[in-house]
Amino acid sequence: ELRQAIPQEDIKPHFQPIISLGNDRIIGFEALARWDHAERGLLAPDMFIPLAEETGLIVQIGEWVVHEACRVASNWPGDLSVAVNISPKQFLAPGLSATILQALTNSGLPPSRLELEITESIFIADVDATLSTLHMLRELGVRIALDDFGTGYSSLSYLRSFPFDKVKIDQSFVRDLNEKGNNAHAVIRAITTLADALGMDTLAEGVESSEQFDIVRAEGCCYVEGYLVGRPLPM
Ligand code: C2E
Ligand code: MG
Ligand code: MG
Repeated sequence: ELRQAIPQEDIKPHFQPIISLGNDRIIGFEALARWDHAERGLLAPDMFIPLAEETGLIVQIGEWVVHEACRVASNWPGDLSVAVNISPKQFLAPGLSATILQALTNSGLPPSRLELEITESIFIADVDATLSTLHMLRELGVRIALDDFGTGYSSLSYLRSFPFDKVKIDQSFVRDLNEKGNNAHAVIRAITTLADALGMDTLAEGVESSEQFDIVRAEGCCYVEGYLVGRPLPM
């Protein structure tokens, strides 16, 4: 079914807003894949992305999502940006930068308005190859964000090895802010301080309440994404 879903265009990105805490305005959206399944309804990525990774179909799905995301974003006003998730398998597959270049060319979206989100797990396979792909992508003029920071190895050497444009602080840290007396504040502050020193922006993921919003702002995050601001919606 997943194989058929791709040509049938049953998989589509939804878009979740991201706001800047500098001016409280929407600066762009993250594209999040949804599978509109004939019998089972709208399926979230955790229902099919792992299978797509395992079968290699992620390469085709990812290619389609980046094309569709760039096409939709090219109709947005001003310089609103779009962020697209790139899975480890997709990152390692040959032809990623050709795919990105083609999506930009077809849509006419300026490269500066596209951000690619990668996770630390891409470094595990081969650090040198990973860095060379990251630099190749950066040369296209797109921005690179490190997603889900804090959940994996959170290696300082990876952070030092590439000048990421943005570090996305994993939603688990934001969720932990709800409990009194834990060290979630300290972790968020440590990440924003470190990222700041390295010249990288920070985004807090999964902000659901105004209390969390106030804390991540006070702890120095630059951007916020979460249900408080808006849920992923089709466009
Ligand atoms: P992610 O990139 O870290 O995306 C953030 C996830 O958190 C999204 O889940 C989003 O809907 C959810 N979220 C946003 N705000 C809140 C909030 O306030 N509270 C809570 N509880 N959740 C919030 P989603 O859409 O289910 O996506 C899950 C993951 O699937 C993504 O995590 C990303 O890693 C992956 N994914 C999504 N679309 C794609 C895609 O096109 N390609 C690839 N390779 N992976 C994708
Ligand atoms: Mg993401
Ligand atoms: Mg994330």
